[in-house]
Amino acid sequence: MNIVVLVKQVPDTYSERKLTDADFTLDRDAADAVLDEINERAVEEALLIKERDGGEVTVVSMGPDRTTDAIRKALSMGADKAVHLNDAALHGSCAVQTAKALAKVIGAVEGVDLIITGNEATDGRTGAIPAMIAEVLGLPALTHARKVEIADGTVKIERETADEGLTFAEAALPAVVSVNEKINEPRYPSFKGIMAAKKKPVTTLTLADAGIDASEVGLANATSSVVEAAPKPPRSGGQKVTDEGDGGSKIVEYLVSQKLV
Ligand SMILES: Cc1cc2nc3c(=O)[nH]c(=O)nc-3n(C[C@H](O)[C@H](O)[C@H](O)COP(=O)(O)OP(=O)(O)OC[C@H]3O[C@@H](n4cnc5c(N)ncnc54)[C@H](O)[C@@H]3O)c2cc1C
Repeated sequence: MNIVVLVKQVPDTYSERKLTDADFTLDRDAADAVLDEINERAVEEALLIKERDGGEVTVVSMGPDRTTDAIRKALSMGADKAVHLNDAALHGSCAVQTAKALAKVIGAVEGVDLIITGNEATDGRTGAIPAMIAEVLGLPALTHARKVEIADGTVKIERETADEGLTFAEAALPAVVSVNEKINEPRYPSFKGIMAAKKKPVTTLTLADAGIDASEVGLANATSSVVEAAPKPPRSGGQKVTDEGDGGSKIVEYLVSQKLV
């Protein structure tokens, strides 16, 4: 099994995250950067499959220079090699451009059977990249998996929906699978893994190396752009209902006024 795992470096959710005033793109210097937790789970799932069925795990990431830290973490968990798409012209790329660029990089990795992604990045949060990549590459997309099984050239997933229970989906390989936070518990990199990661191959590609035209990416050519951003208003103190024998009706009145019933 040749598995590609898509990993994104994101601002640590524990640090203050903000957009730049100039163009509303992510202010990457304002926050510590980490490998997105959902991508640790994506890497873990790829490693579990490799440990069972053999093969190779290639990590692919698009991001600026410091993305190498996230890539090294994935390699120290046990991934075999990595491809890093890094070019200043990618700054501010929208989801569509990102998906097309990543699809181009994945297309150049030989004999890919399975592409594993997180279901949603904690910064951009479009939750659209896995399906878009599947569309560009003409592959089936199995999304929001909480369990993945590979057998006889097919991938089967268990998918949890918010209210309705579980759905079971199946597709022939190669396919794109996005995983949710219930898929597994990612391993911690061992000391041996951290040392080994330093020697694992990381191929850095510019747009030209990847065969991507600069006019297809970047803020100026994005299919959508952020035109305004404002911090979330602080939570109000809420409304106190004093029970003077009519507490029940007051609560119902409140719920009706908020259109909650
Ligand atoms: C209008 C607009 C402006 C934006 N501006 C910025 C910006 O300034 N800075 C910014 O960081 N993002 C920005 N984004 C989001 C940007 O498009 C995303 O980085 C990119 O499109 C991925 O989308 P997402 O983060 O919502 O991914 P999702 O679809 O939520 O991510 C799902 C999974 O896809 C994979 N994935 C996503 N992105 C990458 C990547 N870069 N490399 C490898 N795997 C990946 C991961 O496995 C991830 O778990 C913007 C998005 C929009 C719509």
